[in-house]
Amino acid sequence: MLKGKSALITGSTSGIGLGIAQALAGQGCNIMLNGLGDPKKIEITRLGLETGFGINAGYHGADMTRPDEIAELVKTTVAVFGSIDILVNSAGIQHTASIGEFSPERWAAIIAINLSSSFYTTHHALPAMLRSGWGRIINIASVHGLVASINKAAYVSAKHGLVGLTKVIALETAGSGITSNAICPGWTRTELIEPQIVARAQALGVDIEEAGRNMLAEKQPSQQFVTIEQLGQMALFLCSRAADQITGTAIPIDGGWTAQ
Ligand code: NAD
Repeated sequence: MLKGKSALITGSTSGIGLGIAQALAGQGCNIMLNGLGDPKKIEITRLGLETGFGINAGYHGADMTRPDEIAELVKTTVAVFGSIDILVNSAGIQHTASIGEFSPERWAAIIAINLSSSFYTTHHALPAMLRSGWGRIINIASVHGLVASINKAAYVSAKHGLVGLTKVIALETAGSGITSNAICPGWTRTELIEPQIVARAQALGVDIEEAGRNMLAEKQPSQQFVTIEQLGQMALFLCSRAADQITGTAIPIDGGWTAQ
């Protein structure tokens, strides 16, 4: 379905971004990985995509807090693959504290990585997409782009902002062959939420698995974690022709969280 196309996926060295990379690569899409981590592990991931799916995969370590490095990431992707057909903005971090306790540094980092980086990637990638007359922009927002929780001021603000940015991109590109949508996952078992599970286990004096169940019970009616495979399949659907007219949406995949 995506043979000959190429995708730049920020924050794809682990978790949801990697799940989406695998789903797109499975359909023949070339992948530019991005994210932090152990260089040896990242190289294994990159090679795994190439050998497992017979595609070309690259890696660029641009720091999503650095607009100059983001510009370089997009430039490199276009130079390596000749185009960026699919842009997935998945890089993200979390920090939990009440507003009174929230450090200005953490606030700035979350806004930079979880929101501003998507503006910069889009700003630089749009000209190539407009030239080719086809493109898919998929922003990994969150249920926290739609509803709030306590102790997540920066994250909730960034994700609501990302849903807003998704809509503006959709309106500015409407009719051009480019679509822009946000996926809004509920709890998905990745490195990002692990500290919250550990903190809950400590607070309740229970083991990690019990803390995970407790977390789901509070917010996610299905009582099941979303999987990175399910999110990968949604990204694939958004890249399909069936989704040509789906743009400007924020799609919850959240086991019923936002239905409450
Ligand atoms: P994760 O920690 O596995 O992935 C985060 C990715 O972002 C990693 O590749 C990491 O290296 C990268 N990253 C972090 N800081 C970076 C920086 N400064 N520059 C470049 N890359 C950076 O966690 P995840 O759950 O896969 O998170 C992916 C996205 O999904 C995030 O935007 C997150 O907010 C969102 N999300 C996660 C959940 C969940 O429950 N896990 C729910 C809703 C939304």
